[in-house]
Amino acid sequence: MTRRLYYEDADQRECIARVKSCRAVKAGYAVILDATVFYPEGGGQPCDLGVLESLSGGSENVAVRVWDVQEQEGEVVHFTDAALAEGKSVRCKIDGKRRLTHMREHSGEHIFSGIVCRLFSYSNVGFHMGKDCVTVDFSGPLTDEQIREAERLANQKVLENVEITAEYPTPERLAVMHWRSKKELTGQVRIVTVPGADCCACCGTHVKRTGEIGPIKVVGAEHFRGGSRLRLLIGEKALSDYESRWENVEQICALLSVKPEQAAEAVEKLRRDMEALRYESGALKLRLLEQMANAVSGQQASRVLFAQDLLPEDVRRLADRLQEKDGVAAVFSGDDRQGYQYVIIAKERDVQALGKEFNEALHGRGGGRPPMIQGRVCATREKIETFLKEKGI
Ligand SMILES: [Zn+2]
Repeated sequence: MTRRLYYEDADQRECIARVKSCRAVKAGYAVILDATVFYPEGGGQPCDLGVLESLSGGSENVAVRVWDVQEQEGEVVHFTDAALAEGKSVRCKIDGKRRLTHMREHSGEHIFSGIVCRLFSYSNVGFHMGKDCVTVDFSGPLTDEQIREAERLANQKVLENVEITAEYPTPERLAVMHWRSKKELTGQVRIVTVPGADCCACCGTHVKRTGEIGPIKVVGAEHFRGGSRLRLLIGEKALSDYESRWENVEQICALLSVKPEQAAEAVEKLRRDMEALRYESGALKLRLLEQMANAVSGQQASRVLFAQDLLPEDVRRLADRLQEKDGVAAVFSGDDRQGYQYVIIAKERDVQALGKEFNEALHGRGGGRPPMIQGRVCATREKIETFLKEKGI
């Protein structure tokens, strides 16, 4: 059996070991050592990555990349790119930054889950340490208030900087201990304790004291299978999240010329102001359209109106207003260079046939249903007016 040094000292990042076996597998080689600092994937914790350096005795040590570590039949199996000679010594080196992140996240999750279990009697029923965050599933629904309370207490435990211990209790002692477990366990049980926060069966690696964890922040919560799924940022990830959120708030505050604590209030005011302006501009536009309609109603071509920069809905509204007199109207918005968007209403005529003819004659496209057609046309105002006059509009 491989000596698992990560259980003796989770802070150890290197060791010298002897190659017990090395066999070719599908994507490389499977190496078993007599001792290792490499943690195999398990208990929700991803495996360590790193290198195995063969100690040939020469000046150059050949480093072999370890891209996966799994537990198989009680052994820790290192998957490598290249073969290593059996019986030879190697130096195991893990990616220390990656491991520390895992240790922090795992320890932080213990504290948070232990506190949720104590406060609300919900079990941790799922746990995943992802690239972006830690995901934890609880057996019952958690309100925002409950989440904030658990988060506050978890961070308090971090600040207390208490020692985290791991032990293998005797069956007799285990029987009287209050501990939680994520699954049915057989054989020797390893109990990880964070005094005042958690006591849980676990095979992962943890920091020695809670102060090493850093901030614990819940950044997402959703209902999941009758319970809750939370997204947690722990340690460096919580810090960099804080940094980017702070920068964002700073930018918002600079734009609004307010202090950070007034940002939400200022945005709410901005929203109210915008709504009032939208209402006001809507009323103004109505008046404007009305004036435009009135301005042409006294003229000869009272059914045809040319304008600039109207929204499609306003072109329609104007046409609708103009056709009130005798059921015929044509409204155009645009200019000779870029063309016009148009709406033509003709209640007593075959407006679709008229539209087809109009589009063919003036390079237009569009259509509609009686009594209205709409579209775009690429022709000058003069040509459009001539066409409409010929058609008696
Ligand atoms: Zn653990």
